[in-house]
Amino acid sequence: MEKSILRLPRGLRDFPPEEMAKFSYVENKIRRVLELYGYQEVRTPIFERFDLFALRSGEEIRSRMFVFSTDEGEMALRPEVTAPIARMVATGKLDLSKKPLKIYYIGPCYRYDEPQAGRYREFWQAGVELIGSPYPEADAEVIRLATRVLEELGLEGYVLRIGDMAVIRAFLTQEGVPEEAVNRIIGPLDVLTSSLDKLRMYREKLSEANSGRPLGPDKLSDLIRRCDEIRRLKEEELLKMDAGESLIPKAYEGLLEPDPRVYRLKELYEEGSFDEICDVLDKKAEELVVLTKLRWAYYGVEYGPGQTYKMPEEVFDKLMELMSISGPGDEALPALEKLLGRSGQVGQALSRFEEALKALSWFGVEGFTVDMSIVRGLEYYTGTVFEIDFPFLGAQKQVCGGGRYDKLVEEFGGPSLPAVGFAFGVDRLVLALERSGKVPPARPRCDVYVIPISEEVLDYAIRASEQLRSSGLRTEVSLSRRKLREELSIADKLGARLAIIIGPREAEEGKLTVRDLETREQVSLPLKEAIRHVKAALAGGKT
Ligand code: AMP
Repeated sequence: MEKSILRLPRGLRDFPPEEMAKFSYVENKIRRVLELYGYQEVRTPIFERFDLFALRSGEEIRSRMFVFSTDEGEMALRPEVTAPIARMVATGKLDLSKKPLKIYYIGPCYRYDEPQAGRYREFWQAGVELIGSPYPEADAEVIRLATRVLEELGLEGYVLRIGDMAVIRAFLTQEGVPEEAVNRIIGPLDVLTSSLDKLRMYREKLSEANSGRPLGPDKLSDLIRRCDEIRRLKEEELLKMDAGESLIPKAYEGLLEPDPRVYRLKELYEEGSFDEICDVLDKKAEELVVLTKLRWAYYGVEYGPGQTYKMPEEVFDKLMELMSISGPGDEALPALEKLLGRSGQVGQALSRFEEALKALSWFGVEGFTVDMSIVRGLEYYTGTVFEIDFPFLGAQKQVCGGGRYDKLVEEFGGPSLPAVGFAFGVDRLVLALERSGKVPPARPRCDVYVIPISEEVLDYAIRASEQLRSSGLRTEVSLSRRKLREELSIADKLGARLAIIIGPREAEEGKLTVRDLETREQVSLPLKEAIRHVKAALAGGKT
């Protein structure tokens, strides 16, 4: 047989029992916390119509999904679960008389991403959707749910950052950007801020390093790829400028100057010239911002057939200034007010944001950062947005993301229902548990291991095992007909606390010989007493 048939496709994993145990542990904790707050579980199909996902995220999402054709048209493996839930609501599958609806889901999602540590093509999301409350306390409850899950898992060191898309949208509208153009700006803005964030992270790692290799091979190639991409975009523009074909005036040429160091990044890394790489990264970050600004100002943003919005440079600069506001609420909110003023739609959005942050304190959520650079790529976010990172997870540090999406259900043809929700990446929670040494010890396969020492007593041993199980004891009966000594060592290996040895005498007298596998003490007892004895031993009492 061809070996390649057996190779798992990239970005997919198998989960042996030890791995599954970690996932089940996390999922059970999540279920417990969410149900404590009154949320109920739902399940939606693994695939849906492609258009369901493309509706709000645009055709560009195609390249990031697994799409396939069927007799009913194009389908896609779900990349997330919010759109399917909005579909459920819009098509009347949920009882709206119980508004606000409080639902949660846990299940696999699929994205055609480039796999790397913490990023897979099949991964698990656990999320909530609170549908039907427009109030800031709903935003706060949802954020609290996320931090509570982390607390219950014993995970410390997370960074919670909160932004607000309503403030950004109101600002853009105030500056005269047409609404559809705002929608077309949000996605690229997210890509821009995430790229800047990645460059900043690599820079930090390099500037903190004294020696050694602060970046793994994956990260180094990602850094090089990103810098190269900016170089390519810049060169394309410079070439067009030379040929007189660029829409960007030649006067800007100086801002896009070539920097040959970008070709030597690997060499610089190998010789440990980290300061030099930091300098390149700073320049690349600046150039990426300048390129985006010039492209939006001179090429413009297309937002419909023949419709283009050209963003004045000062509006772009102010947008960048807005997105750079970050800090504790009592610093960030005054800074926002100073930059944007307090009138009209902007003023309303700011007040709403303030109220949500205040409500967070009622839930006891503190220590978060207001960060206006959080622009969640999907266009459907309309208000508060938030992300939770574990910086120690490196490039794939984000474990949770969410926010308010008040228009989605209506856009799917349902009633006008405000909603707020989030999704955790379960795989990354498991990684965070592993890295912080918080994985609970694996539970053994069974607590009691029953050994029939000969074929004649199989009948009695199996019947007794069934009774042990009926009394709630996790019991395995040997199915291997091995010698007693071998069986005892198997029982040890399985982690059983007790073995029950059954020979002809036990069968005849209707007893069970219970052996403590730690102390090696043995007692022979009738079934009922044996059960009591085993339970006491498992509860920590002496046998
Ligand atoms: P998103 O729907 O993009 O907001 O994702 C929600 C969460 O899912 C993120 O915070 C990640 O923790 C997780 N996630 C997203 N994409 C992946 C992936 N490709 N592999 C593993 N986890 C992912």
